Amino acid sequence: MQAAHGNCLSFAMDTDILIVGAGPTGLMLANQLARRGVRAIIVDRHSGPAQQSRAMAVQARTLEIYSKMGVIDEALSLGVQGTGANMWANGKWTARIPLGDIGRSMSPFPFVLMLGQDDNERIMGARLHELGVDVRWNTELTALEQQPDHVDVTLKQPDGTSRRLKAAWVAGCDGARSPVREMSGITFPGAPYEHVFFVADTEATGPMKQGELNVYLWQDGFHLFFPMRGKDRWRVIGILPRNMRNRDNLTFDELVPEIRHEAGTNLAFNECSWFSTYRIHHRAAERFRDRRCFLLGDAAHIHSPVGAQGMNTGLQDAYNLAWKLALVITGRADAALLDTYEQERIPVARRLLRTTDQAFQLIVSDSWIAGLFRTKIMAKVVARAMTFERVRKLAFRTISQIGIQYRDSPLSQTLPGLPADAPVAGDRFPWLSLRFSENGPVEDVFRKLDDTRFNLLVVGQRAPSEAALNCGDMLFAHVIPDDPVNDRELARTHIAGPASYLLRPDGHVGLCGTHLDAGTVARYFADRHFRFDTSARNAAGLPLQTA
Ligand SMILES: Cc1cc2nc3c(=O)[nH]c(=O)nc-3n(C[C@H](O)[C@H](O)[C@H](O)COP(=O)(O)OP(=O)(O)OC[C@H]3O[C@@H](n4cnc5c(N)ncnc54)[C@H](O)[C@@H]3O)c2cc1C
Repeated sequence: MQAAHGNCLSFAMDTDILIVGAGPTGLMLANQLARRGVRAIIVDRHSGPAQQSRAMAVQARTLEIYSKMGVIDEALSLGVQGTGANMWANGKWTARIPLGDIGRSMSPFPFVLMLGQDDNERIMGARLHELGVDVRWNTELTALEQQPDHVDVTLKQPDGTSRRLKAAWVAGCDGARSPVREMSGITFPGAPYEHVFFVADTEATGPMKQGELNVYLWQDGFHLFFPMRGKDRWRVIGILPRNMRNRDNLTFDELVPEIRHEAGTNLAFNECSWFSTYRIHHRAAERFRDRRCFLLGDAAHIHSPVGAQGMNTGLQDAYNLAWKLALVITGRADAALLDTYEQERIPVARRLLRTTDQAFQLIVSDSWIAGLFRTKIMAKVVARAMTFERVRKLAFRTISQIGIQYRDSPLSQTLPGLPADAPVAGDRFPWLSLRFSENGPVEDVFRKLDDTRFNLLVVGQRAPSEAALNCGDMLFAHVIPDDPVNDRELARTHIAGPASYLLRPDGHVGLCGTHLDAGTVARYFADRHFRFDTSARNAAGLPLQTA
């Protein structure tokens, strides 16, 4: 049905979910929904994918998700693995921090991957296309109005006409100036930093250690050289000198003498393919949800690029919301489950803002003492600290985002009796290599488990029967047999039988304890808004996609 109102076409056309913004966050959300059988409409006001590399670092937790999406081989082949960081102080090489295998035994991807945001977007866009969903470019959200059971949205289309659409849910993945956030009246408290960042994609030769991150610390600031794909390709990031901060038409050539002054006169730039300056803010939305509208990625939180967390955090927001939204849309969970998105992700964003702000203040402080710390102490302290395994592990756990946990979430329930250091509810279940059957092959747990379902891992006991669990295909039970390989792997992560771990689709532990009988599992699901038993699902069945 379609009715014309002047220039505005009004359609009685519904979609379960409208995703506004096809940056990395929107693309990840659309992919994760499509993998779970929910076809979103995804729109972006730009005419096509971004050409600029912007974020550069892909963290291990993101790579783990890429692996489940089937795009990991392409990401690894296009990116450069960060094997080490070279610290330079006042132009002199001071220390090398090995990063190659820093997360060995903690993740199948124990490193940070240097891969530009444009490549990440292209890879996710191509996968989305394979799943039958394409971004509608040149399509801009111009208005939204919440109704009790849907959202009325207005989209400006490529031909300039407007189109009305009814969406059951709206995901604002629409960046730092998020129209969804503004139209929802959600405030974005925080402040801008006085410093202005620059970013340049260059071809350069000089003292930099090839293929590795080079960190130049000097009295008034820092420069980072990230290795990029291709000979002598470097991404250079830093803060502008004070006298250049308010220049609108600044060129990279004007900045080169400053960089050479600090990084060495034998540094030569042969080409600069992209140069941009940007003032950064640290802000977090006061809420991540207003009734039927959600905020994710930069729309929900922005902060300094210290630690290379920005793009990765948006991708994790999407991975957290997608499985919940898919269960609600397909009638397998009550809408109340969606409350846990903001309950779990707001604390992550606030903690991130706090820590990146503290690190940023230390790195950019203009004070004499901070300058002295940067050039005389910092590199040596960091390099020395990283020789200790505990520090290395803590650093990897934090920066790679594998340490993010939702222990305080209503979805997390730890029953008594597990060993003190064992994983608990809310944690990302550790990466292990286990035998899933007697004399069977040793398998990577992350590869083995289906992340579109719940998984029950049972150690040192029999699993409840499928009939008793009565969750249909939403729950797979795996019995981990007694075996020397399994014993060793489990002991490494302090898991001792008898133990049972119910994992959410995103790999975080939902429920754990020594013995989980079918009744305990059923109560966990019933108390938390899930409806997995076949009769309930049939009764509640909603259409997957009507657009
Ligand atoms: C110059 C620069 C350098 C950066 N460098 C780094 C870095 O080194 N490391 C790092 O971690 N992060 C960096 N960032 C930040 C990083 O790019 C963001 O964290 C990331 O892009 C967030 O992704 P997103 O999908 O949430 O938002 P975005 O990438 O901003 O995508 C939002 C999308 O929404 C679309 N949109 C907006 N409004 C509408 C509307 N009304 N209708 C339809 N579509 C709409 C936009 O066109 C856009 O495509 C940098 C950012 C900039 C600007």
